[in-house]
Amino acid sequence: MTPLNWTEQAEVVVIGGGIIGCSVAYHLARAGVADVLLVERLELAAATTARSAGQLSFGRTDVNMIRMAKQTQAVIPELENEIGASLDFQRAGNLRLAFSSEREAELTKLESVLVSEGVNVERLDRRAAGEMCPWLDMSQVRASLLLADAGHIDGPRLAMAYAQAARARGVRLWRGVEVEDIVVEDANVVGVRTSRANVRAKYVVDAAGAWSPQLARSIGWYVAAVPTRSHFWITAPNAAGAPDQPNVSLPDFQVYTRREMGGLLIGFQEPVSRTFDPFGLAPDLDRVPMFDATADLELLGQQLAPMRDIVRDIDHWQFAHHIAGLSTYTPDGKFLIGRFAGLSGFLVATGCCGSGVLASAGIGQLTADLILDRAPSVDATVFEPDRFGPVDPSNAEFHARCAAARAGKSRSRAIAA
Ligand SMILES: Cc1cc2nc3c(=O)[nH]c(=O)nc-3n(C[C@H](O)[C@H](O)[C@H](O)COP(=O)(O)OP(=O)(O)OC[C@H]3O[C@@H](n4cnc5c(N)ncnc54)[C@H](O)[C@@H]3O)c2cc1C
Repeated sequence: MTPLNWTEQAEVVVIGGGIIGCSVAYHLARAGVADVLLVERLELAAATTARSAGQLSFGRTDVNMIRMAKQTQAVIPELENEIGASLDFQRAGNLRLAFSSEREAELTKLESVLVSEGVNVERLDRRAAGEMCPWLDMSQVRASLLLADAGHIDGPRLAMAYAQAARARGVRLWRGVEVEDIVVEDANVVGVRTSRANVRAKYVVDAAGAWSPQLARSIGWYVAAVPTRSHFWITAPNAAGAPDQPNVSLPDFQVYTRREMGGLLIGFQEPVSRTFDPFGLAPDLDRVPMFDATADLELLGQQLAPMRDIVRDIDHWQFAHHIAGLSTYTPDGKFLIGRFAGLSGFLVATGCCGSGVLASAGIGQLTADLILDRAPSVDATVFEPDRFGPVDPSNAEFHARCAAARAGKSRSRAIAA
């Protein structure tokens, strides 16, 4: 085989300019890595990141996830300082309501973990919860917990802030450039072949979101995650979307809400989410068939029906927008971060499980720590990418496991919503 002509080099090549790739690049640069190159084939933050609901909450009992979310909250003012602009984080608070004894038990457990992690939580009685959210009938509420520091942010804006701050620290950002091949020599990744140049690198990070399994497979490795549809609706302006309304999580109904454009952004966990073969995925999400108007409207009707008891004027709600994108789910709902045993020079930072905005700083920080051999601030073993053993992400049974992780997200297993 003719030896490759290396025309560029970098210490680290990050593949993918979504929020995770941008955060990885920023955290590497912040840790002093001098020569980082981020390669994005479309535009920065144009894929799944552009479709996020942007919720930053702490709805999960997993301490690693909570710590990663806290890292994101902490990085926001630092980034604002670095780029000299506000990121407009909306500290709306997250009101979590339990209408059943099962959800009440989960809420109690969540409360105790959050308290032990230093997250600001407050129990509200029915009257106080009702005053916060007059559009909800609280008469059947068994427990309500307010996470006052939670809120939401525009996902692409946060991603662009990571990218801008990274560039100011010397990171090169290649947009409109595709990674065509990852180059391996003797079980060691040594660089990438791109549509612009062949880049020799000490480390390559696959942060390509829903496309990360494709890239790993090209070198004979597996990413144990499946592109899974997440979606939300936005209502026409109504009282529930008033500027003083908190974000609301209703795990009994597998629903989260937040205000948006004077109305309510409302996200549902589907009983069975649609999954997609990662190996046949178009590069542009607009070409992935995520919508089926008839089925989607039917599902909306089914998911709204049980809420009639608690939402006063739900029959008058009008729906103005329907947004869907592909999160990348693993069977245990945890990220894939780190190296594969037996392959050096290669890491993945993927398997976002619908929480990549929320945990973006934590994921970037952990990836940088692993590259630099520094003690991580979270338990890195939880996220090891080969923890499921060899899997085939196009296998139907594996898809069912990942879809089940998505369906259980709004319960205490969830972190974003
Ligand atoms: C409807 C919806 C609501 C959501 N709500 C929330 C929320 O409230 N809170 C939250 O935390 N998360 C939420 N998420 C999840 C969040 O959006 C994702 O976790 C996050 O955006 C994933 O970022 P990423 O960088 O992994 O992927 P992406 O943003 O998809 O970025 C991957 C990038 O890799 C690039 N790429 C792929 N292959 C190549 C290649 N060969 N060469 C170069 N570039 C390549 C792609 O073009 C893409 O830009 C939501 C997701 C959806 C769909």
